[in-house]
Amino acid sequence: MKHEEEHYDLLVVGAGPMGSTTARYAAKNGLKKILVIEKRQEIGSPVRCAEGVTLAFFDELEIEESDDFIRKKVKGAKLYSPAGNELTIGKDMAGDEVGAVLERDVFDKEMAMLAAEEGVEFMLRTQAKGLIKEGDKIVGVKANRMGEEFEIRASLIVGADGFESQIGRWGGIYDVLKTKNIMTCFQYRLSNIDFDSEYTHFYLGSSAPGGYVWIFPKGEDKANVGLGIQLSQLDGSKTAKEYLDDFIDKHEGLKKGQAVDMVAGGVSVEHPPDSVCTNGLMLVGDAARIVDPITGGGIANGMKQAKIAGEIAAEAVQKGDTSKEFLSRYEKRWRERLEDKLWRNYMAKEKAVQLDDEQYDKIIDALRDVELEKLSTEAILKGVAEKYPELVESFEDML
Ligand SMILES: Cc1cc2nc3c(=O)[nH]c(=O)nc-3n(C[C@H](O)[C@H](O)[C@H](O)COP(=O)(O)OP(=O)(O)OC[C@H]3O[C@@H](n4cnc5c(N)ncnc54)[C@H](O)[C@@H]3O)c2cc1C
Repeated sequence: MKHEEEHYDLLVVGAGPMGSTTARYAAKNGLKKILVIEKRQEIGSPVRCAEGVTLAFFDELEIEESDDFIRKKVKGAKLYSPAGNELTIGKDMAGDEVGAVLERDVFDKEMAMLAAEEGVEFMLRTQAKGLIKEGDKIVGVKANRMGEEFEIRASLIVGADGFESQIGRWGGIYDVLKTKNIMTCFQYRLSNIDFDSEYTHFYLGSSAPGGYVWIFPKGEDKANVGLGIQLSQLDGSKTAKEYLDDFIDKHEGLKKGQAVDMVAGGVSVEHPPDSVCTNGLMLVGDAARIVDPITGGGIANGMKQAKIAGEIAAEAVQKGDTSKEFLSRYEKRWRERLEDKLWRNYMAKEKAVQLDDEQYDKIIDALRDVELEKLSTEAILKGVAEKYPELVESFEDML
């Protein structure tokens, strides 16, 4: 309770997977006094995620696979066009990108426990309410813990406060998102359904304008069934939930299911801002807008970024230099690793939203006929160009 008197090496706002992972790697790299504050009373709950991941980042992040938080591994993904054309993407095509469905609440707690094992301190039900600035440097956070207001000071602050990040706004790093860059999502966990639980399923086209419907298996007869719709595509006549209800109604195997929970939430499909740091502050994960604009997946990118964030945070604090200039080492490393693909997929998302159902039918039809060795935006465009060249004319710049 005497945290307002302490000075931390590192203060992380948000105990999602990225906050915990940044803290863990800062501790592994030598920082001793690290605090993570979390506004919720339970890390990881309630879950606001479809829980689909690739497991390719586990080794790099030193995470051991466990049945406790990996609910189901899948053989691949199936894509469906509005007319029902189907494309199966197996391990041969997707390589490491084929993945699994998590138990996010358990996973998030596990990430926090890995950090705690390195000496990281967690404070729950503690909400950041504002930043403390001295000159042009951020030196702490104003916090509220169950009604008690206090200040926490640290050499470096990390904003890992997710999609709705206020730390990013208070720090002057960015402003509000444009509606075309927000996916509004709605999901049920359905039990007692009939479907192929060996695959994740993605339905493209007007059943989810600007996005897609997903079915991610949580077992043989249960799945996360949800959708993401680009917010600017909603004209007020129908909500995201109504789109999903309509989709479920049209699929007998799903219609008979029972919902055991509901999730609503937003995902940023913006490209990352020019900088995610300022003096004394860095952003990570959804707060840094690192979500893949095509898939809406944020976990894999965010985890890779969080490791880099923790390493550079430790270096900056140890060298006594948490200036924006020093933190540009973080920018450089994560951008080299992730930015090309984020930009390419952002451009692809901008084009994909213009496609109509007939065009989606042609794309999936064309891809069934070509030998795709690797699943990439470039390979997809080339594959489609072979059968429907007119369809990719407007995408020529991306090739
Ligand atoms: C419906 C939906 C489905 C999704 N499906 C997938 C998927 O299948 N695969 C995938 O990879 N990604 C998916 N995502 C995205 C994924 O959930 C995020 O990328 C991921 O959770 C980001 O982790 P994070 O640690 O950056 O932020 P979060 O997990 O959002 O964690 C942020 C934490 O900060 C806390 N916090 C916020 N503000 C404050 C404050 N002021 N003070 C203290 N604490 C604060 C929050 O309570 C939260 O615990 C989905 C998102 C949604 C909404």
